[in-house]
Amino acid sequence: MARTESKMRWLDWGRRGTAGAAIPMALGFDGVTQRFGAVTALDNVSLSVAPGEIVALLGHSGCGKTTLLRLAAGVERPSSGRVLLEGRDVSSPGSFVEPEARGVGLVFQDYALFPHLSVRENVRFGLRGYGNAEADATALRAIARVGLADLAEAYPHMLSGGEQQRVALARAVAPRPGVLLMDEPFSNLDRRLRDVVRDETMALLQEIGATSIIVTHDPEDAMRVADRIVLMQQGRIVQTGTAEELYRRPASLFAARFFCDLTEIETVVRDGEVDTPLGRFPAPDLPDGAAVLAIRPQAIRLVPKGFCLPARVVTRRFLGEVDHIELAVGGLDKPLMARFPTRRDSVVEGEDVGIDITMDEVLVFPVGDT
Ligand code: ATP
Repeated sequence: MARTESKMRWLDWGRRGTAGAAIPMALGFDGVTQRFGAVTALDNVSLSVAPGEIVALLGHSGCGKTTLLRLAAGVERPSSGRVLLEGRDVSSPGSFVEPEARGVGLVFQDYALFPHLSVRENVRFGLRGYGNAEADATALRAIARVGLADLAEAYPHMLSGGEQQRVALARAVAPRPGVLLMDEPFSNLDRRLRDVVRDETMALLQEIGATSIIVTHDPEDAMRVADRIVLMQQGRIVQTGTAEELYRRPASLFAARFFCDLTEIETVVRDGEVDTPLGRFPAPDLPDGAAVLAIRPQAIRLVPKGFCLPARVVTRRFLGEVDHIELAVGGLDKPLMARFPTRRDSVVEGEDVGIDITMDEVLVFPVGDT
């Protein structure tokens, strides 16, 4: 049984700036397809990651994120297409480079620590080609950097989940890899631990400067850590861009749903606009036909009753900084989700209110664009 995190250890990471720097490498995927029997895990994926760039690979479970990491690490070979390191093909039969020769560090989702090796020995394991003394010193430096110097001789079963994650991180960064790949590094951690581990991990990544890919299904993680987000769906990349680009200009309803709760209303585009019980909304780029109007909760504003849309508060949930509200609006067959900053004199369930809808928090997508 892993023990729980003692004292406030999770706050105690090593001194920033002591991890040493890597020489970042460019990483590329060129038309990569990966099949497992009848399953196509990756379907013609192309992506270039610049040296030192931090990319978040975001997507639902089973969309192929882990498979892409495993191909980059060399623990799997693609069915077709190429993996490129510094522009060099490292995945094709004639030029395949073994995982240990790639200069790529991998932090597995389950940490994959060797149970029969101590923390120090686990971290030393990645340091092939080092002399004994140098390997020990390098391992201990990495262990200290993640704040576990006093647990260097402990075994994995004696560590909490958060500590095991840090050992896995120390093991991956100790050889100063040019590329660092992390599979759901924060998903097994509880919330308070998660924020600290995420911040400290990011400080460490920036310190070593390695080209990094972080796999996550959590958009907040992706938005917090990445220079660029790569959104995947069923083995394909559906959009890449900064967090702000993906949030503001989602390429599809699927992408929009990833970053925000939405009220979705089926409608029809005619002459560049949709006409709904909530009013008319522009859809200038869409052809006439069936569409979905997607409204973010923050689009809804409370206004004095009168010349505005009348609504009734169906439910109100206090979430601390905001109230999550569901509103009934005449002509809509489902409630409209809204979020209002919490106030002492907030609305109450059953209250009739006036609302207004901010256009830039409203999106229209063609039907089937998911
Ligand atoms: P998760 O977040 O759940 O780890 P993921 O996005 O990382 O998911 P992958 O693990 O890459 O997804 O899996 C993509 C698809 O390929 C899934 O349908 C999975 O079941 C399948 N798959 C992955 N590895 C294998 C394998 N070795 N043999 C058979 N199918 C596999």
